[in-house]
Amino acid sequence: MGAPAPAGAPSGCAPKARELTEPCSDNHVQLYLKLSKTQLGSGDSRRSTVTDSIDALSTSLPGLPELREEMAAAGRSMAQEGLVTGTSGNLSCRAQEGVLISPAGVALGRLRAEQIPLVDLNGRMIEGELPPSSEINLHLGMYRRYGARGVVHTHAPMSVALACVVDELPCVHYLMADLGGHVPVAPYFTFGTQELADAVHNAIEGHTAALMANHGTLAYGKDLATAAARTRLLEWVATLYWHAAVIGPPRTLTEAEQRDAAAELARRGYGT
Ligand SMILES: [Zn+2]
Repeated sequence: MGAPAPAGAPSGCAPKARELTEPCSDNHVQLYLKLSKTQLGSGDSRRSTVTDSIDALSTSLPGLPELREEMAAAGRSMAQEGLVTGTSGNLSCRAQEGVLISPAGVALGRLRAEQIPLVDLNGRMIEGELPPSSEINLHLGMYRRYGARGVVHTHAPMSVALACVVDELPCVHYLMADLGGHVPVAPYFTFGTQELADAVHNAIEGHTAALMANHGTLAYGKDLATAAARTRLLEWVATLYWHAAVIGPPRTLTEAEQRDAAAELARRGYGT
């Protein structure tokens, strides 16, 4: 299996996370690994901050029909790849009018564009026949808190296997710079609850993906495709970690190595 391509190639301005109204000159998200001298000197060898900032919705997004078709296609692809099975997993993306989110009770592999409801940022239904995913709080908090434009939640098998065992997925590959270095594991709470959503939102701060203990994955990005690419990267790294751990304790990249890798990826236009 080859390494997946780094997600996206963001360019342009670099607003800080949560500054959701800061204008962005070229309508691209800027992802960068920010490791401050303060953090380097703090003695915390694991801590790094990746900021995946999304500009305000001052510029146009694709229309609802196009976004719904993209979401349905993404659901089919992820089902074919084995990242989601049955009715597990859910997707969402930001639209000018609100958030499109996959409906409850519909297998992503059979998701049709016209089935996808539109809700506002507080979860009130704007348009649609089917109820939104039971993990709607998990999704909406990512838009409100981090300015996400695409969010993917899965029960991808190797990621979940690790999330049943480890407290974090260490940074064992330079491509993990795109995920914010190591991947945190949010504590377990009952699915669909605000407690679970809060735990994941807290855990993912400074990262673009998180594992959910004994449950699944969450990834976000500048659009749905980026969130999906990060989910694939996470599953690939989880598999890599498993293979490595069978052989022996995997070596973890140092903070300096992570920072250099992130800088080099950004310099080469991979956007880390
Ligand atoms: Zn789930």
